[in-house]
Amino acid sequence: MDFDEFREFGHASIEFIINYLSNIRQRNVLSSVQPFDVINQLPRQIPEQPEHWRQILNDMERIILPGLTHWQSPYFNAFFPSSTSAGSIIGELLIAGIGVLGFSWICSPACTELEMVVMDWLAKFLHLPKHFLHEDDGPGGGVIQGSASESVLVAVLAAREQAVRKERENHPEMSESDIRGKLIAYSSDQSNSCIEKAGLLAAIRMKLLPADEDLIFRGATLQKAIEKDVAAGLIPVICIATLGTTGTCAYDDIESLASICEQYQVWLHVDAAYAGGAFALDECAELRRGLDRVDSLNFNLHKFMQVSFDCAAMWVRDANNVVDSFNVDRIYLKHKHDDQTKIPDFRHWQIPLGRRFRALKVWITFRTLGAEGLRATMRKHIDLAIQFERAVKADKRFEVVAPRALGLVCFRAKGDNEITAQLQHRLMERKKIYMVKAEHCGRLFLRFSICGMDPKPSDIEFAWTEIETQLTAICAEDQVNARKAGDITDLSHHLTGLQLTNETLRR
Ligand code: PLP
Repeated sequence: MDFDEFREFGHASIEFIINYLSNIRQRNVLSSVQPFDVINQLPRQIPEQPEHWRQILNDMERIILPGLTHWQSPYFNAFFPSSTSAGSIIGELLIAGIGVLGFSWICSPACTELEMVVMDWLAKFLHLPKHFLHEDDGPGGGVIQGSASESVLVAVLAAREQAVRKERENHPEMSESDIRGKLIAYSSDQSNSCIEKAGLLAAIRMKLLPADEDLIFRGATLQKAIEKDVAAGLIPVICIATLGTTGTCAYDDIESLASICEQYQVWLHVDAAYAGGAFALDECAELRRGLDRVDSLNFNLHKFMQVSFDCAAMWVRDANNVVDSFNVDRIYLKHKHDDQTKIPDFRHWQIPLGRRFRALKVWITFRTLGAEGLRATMRKHIDLAIQFERAVKADKRFEVVAPRALGLVCFRAKGDNEITAQLQHRLMERKKIYMVKAEHCGRLFLRFSICGMDPKPSDIEFAWTEIETQLTAICAEDQVNARKAGDITDLSHHLTGLQLTNETLRR
């Protein structure tokens, strides 16, 4: 493809994206394809001859779009948002266009240095403690990982390696494998699945402790578990708290957890994958309590800060703990500025060697929206969730099951779980809106999460009308079925009566 053709393809693709995004409300949010429908429309091999880009864009429209779940649609109300913005989309294009990898400073100085700058911008925007800034004199700083899962895994691996080193120094009589076999980590039963997975991948026992009735994980629970485990000879390594759990967006009590972690010298990591953005808002300042006492934290910019997936910010209080744990070098990776106390080679802060220039899309998003625009988007999500919650509360057939938190409302149809299950099933079949279900203490509920690129109050009205009319339809069908069942019962009573009469007559 020459540059003229590349230009045409590029312009047409931007038009394609604008057309897709601006008409997204006209599509059902869920796809109607069946398993293998997409596969069956595609050739089994790479085309032998190059194809024209027009044909490829046509297939995009014809084969790929019908097979999509539309994450940027405001009718996508499942999970948490993974939103984007014009600036971030262009950022992705520029990242691919430049095509650099930035695992060492020398591999692309701008890649490393822009990342340090945007991570410091972000830390200040979120009012994080100063020791997380690169520009601070201390050993802390921020890095962009691909996902919250990777960030948690990095924290668990680093904490594990630091604990092994410390134990070896304190107990030279113990073998390394003995020490590794005794390590234990903690989180709550409300934490994301990625925490349990990090334990599996890091080969460390991960105890998921029960959160209190209000779904909050507190220091007292951690203390009891640690005391018992220490008495049994185990070695506590790390505790992962959550600010904004996936089920209900509950906030763990960081202060009380920090007190226990400090007492037992346990690494405290905070997974704020969704809720972290709210640290920026004065009205959510309470959420930041205790963050000055944590060792590391993560927050997904692709959740509600309009940077497209993938983009997960992670900060560590002392980067040496991570760098020393992961520093595996080769002669071909060395360069004359590789003194890690001066400027980082971010490959030591992450799992892969290669790394994308994600800082570029962050930089462009921040500049095109401004801090004011970012805060306004988060406040809009909160306002829309309040609008939805009001609608739920005004309808006596529904109940809210947990306090609304940021852009998430957890609710259910009153009565048996079966009604809520039927409602969700029906909504999924109709494909107009997409919500996922969750469960706590045997009660099934639905999560309504504000998502999409540009959700509006009219979208909330649309979603609520869809939900409540479907519940009305279910109730009407149930009544008809009950009436039919009643008729059958009446009939069988009647028949039994007739039978009795016949028998009486025969006698
Ligand atoms: N932690 C929390 C609280 C989440 O809600 C999620 C996903 O929604 C994750 C972690 C996993 O995020 P990722 O897909 O970036 O690994």
